[in-house]
Amino acid sequence: MSHSKAKDLHAEPGKLVDHSENLLVHFRRIEELKNLALGYPAIELNSRQLCDLELLLNRAFYPLTGYLNRQDYESVLDTMRLSDGTVWPIPICLDVNEKTAGTLEVDQPIALRDEEGFLLAILSIEEIWKPDKKMEARCVFGADDHRVHPGVRYLYEEVGNWYIGGSLEGVQLPVHYDFRKLRLTPADTHRAFLENGWRNVIGFQTEKHLHCAHREMIFSAAREARASIFLQPVVGLTHAGDLNYYTQVRCYQQILAKFPKNMITLGILPMAMRKAGPREAVWQAIIRKNYGCSHFMVSDDHGDPFVNNGSENSFYPLHAAQEMMGKYETEIGIKMVPLKKMVYVEDRAQYLLESKVGQGMQVKRISSSELKRRLENGLDIPEWFSYPEVVAELRHVYPPRRKQGFTIFFTGLPSAGKSTLAKVLLVKFMELRDRPVTLLDGDIVRKNLSSELSFTKEHRNLNVQRIGFVASEITKNGGVAICAPIAPYEESRRYNRELIGRYGGYIEVYLSTPMEVCEQRDRKGIYAKARTGKMSGVTGIDDPYVPPSNPEIVLNTSELTPDEAAQEVLLYLEQQGYIA
Ligand code: ADP
Repeated sequence: MSHSKAKDLHAEPGKLVDHSENLLVHFRRIEELKNLALGYPAIELNSRQLCDLELLLNRAFYPLTGYLNRQDYESVLDTMRLSDGTVWPIPICLDVNEKTAGTLEVDQPIALRDEEGFLLAILSIEEIWKPDKKMEARCVFGADDHRVHPGVRYLYEEVGNWYIGGSLEGVQLPVHYDFRKLRLTPADTHRAFLENGWRNVIGFQTEKHLHCAHREMIFSAAREARASIFLQPVVGLTHAGDLNYYTQVRCYQQILAKFPKNMITLGILPMAMRKAGPREAVWQAIIRKNYGCSHFMVSDDHGDPFVNNGSENSFYPLHAAQEMMGKYETEIGIKMVPLKKMVYVEDRAQYLLESKVGQGMQVKRISSSELKRRLENGLDIPEWFSYPEVVAELRHVYPPRRKQGFTIFFTGLPSAGKSTLAKVLLVKFMELRDRPVTLLDGDIVRKNLSSELSFTKEHRNLNVQRIGFVASEITKNGGVAICAPIAPYEESRRYNRELIGRYGGYIEVYLSTPMEVCEQRDRKGIYAKARTGKMSGVTGIDDPYVPPSNPEIVLNTSELTPDEAAQEVLLYLEQQGYIA
């Protein structure tokens, strides 16, 4: 049984001629494919690959009928076009590691599965090759240094070193259990637009939360283009620091209610953005064209890797995305609507285009970091800025610090005072009685969570990450986690900071108690054992301790009593608003 559907479909190499509504097979073929697939090698897709596959199968990536072969891939890098000349700016190939690539052959059918093993599609391999990632980075991102662009870093560090091109027979779209009504496919939206009699539809891509200014911007753009609106936020991959995605979608639903009825539709897009700036904008526009939009809103910093993470500077020059879109809009068949920023003018109690603000007018703004600060401190968020319904959703996911969970993470040499301080704080928090508290002491964790681990660098890091995982769950649910491992390495501490910081407070306390003092205390006698050769791998003696580079608190317990040291931590928590 051959799956090389592409061979029949491609009139000539690279010519893509499948115009069907989706790439899913008829249901009667599914059973057959499921049985056949049992004998095929399987590839388990990661979350980014799942996003790409979903958009291939539902034809948001029209005209692609599968993963690009090498000729198309190179043509996309070189010319932003498939080899038949169709504009396509982003390479879509299935990446695998060297080991997997070594087991695969051209013309072989492969089962593509999700992490639970659901069969999603059969891929017929047409080509397997090792791409030049530096070249890809330069062409797609305009940079080949992994330190300057997160997309380049992802390409080098996360993407497999071998690419597969080939055609797809879809069995089912990736499974989602949430917001099913909002997961509209291109065929769904196109049909809905027709049924509503919408001839002009502006696609609006976003990943931010939207407030009054956005509503004004979208509304005025729609009026100008005499168009309806397709609000299509991206909920493909959730990144660290991203607004909790359920809240994000609920905020969009609230915004929807602020528009006149029958003017706007909401759909969510399972897209793995590349943040490739100008190329990203063209890619997103093609996707919107495929969803049936006639217009696409492009901002001056569209697709930039840094604009949504609170950074002041963008990676790509301002307007680069709009300029690139301008070149391709006619050919793609979608009109660019440049996003015009609006600001609140107090004297007029209304939003005006930034360009229309006259001299002497009082303009008001709240930056995203200021919004975050207000949420964290439970401060007022004015109604000119956002809708009460949206603010209520945000307050739900960003409770003030007073109500957030947090983790206190002690690190330091053996006998630096970690367990002692952790126990003092435990009773203080018990006394306060305002949050549930858990103590994750080094020795207790070693016994209950990590008894099989040794004291190599790898195992020490793993032990610290396990503590971090438990602490993150406690923090997420509004509790206090007090951790007291040695945690001698920066990488696992950084991992924990990043993980726990998503859910609440993370306070790293470095006990800088000098080595001589620790050795003198020698609470568990391990320094003595190390000195007499009865024990090896003791931190501080024959195993390294790397001090933290940016701890919230540094305490030298040789100069403080345990009570005083605990007081310092409590003081910090109070200053930061975590406790009253
Ligand atoms: P660790 O958990 O870092 O290995 P421990 O808390 O078990 O260290 O041991 C620290 C020892 O130092 C205890 O005997 C404790 O009484 C003593 N100590 C003296 N001053 C302090 C202080 N300010 N904070 C914590 N411990 C202190």
